[in-house]
Amino acid sequence: MARGPLDWIDGELQRLSTRGLRRALEPLGSAQGPVVEVGGRRLVNLCSNDYLGLAGDPRLRAAAAAAALAEGAGSGASRLVAGDLAIHGRLEAALAALHRAPAALLLNSGYHANAGVPAALVGRDDAIFADVLDHASIVDGALLSRAALVRYRHGDLDELADLLAASRARRRLVITDAVFSMDGDAAPLAGIAELCDRHGAMLYVDEAHAVGVLGPTGAGLAEALGLEARVDVSMGTLGKALGSFGAYVAGEARLRDLLLSRCRTFVFTTALPPAACGATLAALEVLRAEPERRARLGALVARMRAGLAARGFDVARVVAPIFPVVLGGEARALAAAAGLRERGFFVRAIRPPTVPAGTSRLRVALTAGHGPDQVDAFLGALDEVLAALPPA
Ligand SMILES: *Cc1c(COP(=O)(O)O)cnc(C)c1O
Repeated sequence: MARGPLDWIDGELQRLSTRGLRRALEPLGSAQGPVVEVGGRRLVNLCSNDYLGLAGDPRLRAAAAAAALAEGAGSGASRLVAGDLAIHGRLEAALAALHRAPAALLLNSGYHANAGVPAALVGRDDAIFADVLDHASIVDGALLSRAALVRYRHGDLDELADLLAASRARRRLVITDAVFSMDGDAAPLAGIAELCDRHGAMLYVDEAHAVGVLGPTGAGLAEALGLEARVDVSMGTLGKALGSFGAYVAGEARLRDLLLSRCRTFVFTTALPPAACGATLAALEVLRAEPERRARLGALVARMRAGLAARGFDVARVVAPIFPVVLGGEARALAAAAGLRERGFFVRAIRPPTVPAGTSRLRVALTAGHGPDQVDAFLGALDEVLAALPPA
């Protein structure tokens, strides 16, 4: 084995293994879908964010191919240099329309959006207020902004009110996930918007798990609650329910103008390739034309919620197709995932640092491509697996 300055990695990997925190890839032998091939076996896929079942949809694949043929395999440069293709503008217009916002700006991924947009809005003299369960990319973006990062207990409006009232920051930015990625519950957005109004704070909502899923037209949680006009920065991702790749911020035209010049994860990166944009445009068309997908997904969510609640799991607040089956320690979560795999279900154990210590869990995700029979079969398999688990 090679010897040298990277030797410390051996010890680090060993420590991760000992603590049950070492991650590994699981290559799929098939396209994304409700059933996937893993390790040569067909498994019911309960760990994808492809909530509307669009990632494998032939219409999205054809649109991706057509966009690549028409506008190229790559975009060649940053949007600000030579990479601003016609399809970027078309997609931004469609995303602004989805949010009934004046403007939208594409970012290369949700991670890019959250890593770069906060720093364009706040700096050293300012403060960011973030729910403790906000996505890791929001924490990273807050750190990059150099603003003070103030975290409030999950969904705790009283604490947020106190923190905002106590803040002497020049500008204040409240950032929350709309739907929390590992818990499936929704932020108390009406209350948060109220507090932002009262304290003159900007409101940034990450709709990653809500776009395509919630709201009368699938625009997300703010739409579902009639709060779209109260959100200053609507961020959404295109790689989850919309089945392709990329992200965006929707809002006022002057917000877009500022981000064009100031958002480093927009300025210093190559524009999204046409294929991803073509697929997203097709997904938005499916979203509009087939509202029954959201209805079907909603019925599956209700079925799973009832089944897990009957088994004693705390899922009453779940609003999206994400179910936390919290089992405690890493070993229990890993054993449960392995037991489910033997029974034909692909579910991942989610461990720290993705979730807080002691709350390792199965994160069970549904898509519109699943059927009620698959939900019932999963619940039956879960019963068997739980009965065989060592006590917490
Ligand atoms: C997945 C996710 C992101 C990152 O989006 P990508 O497009 O996958 O980079 C951001 N925020 C939340 C809440 C997410 O769940």
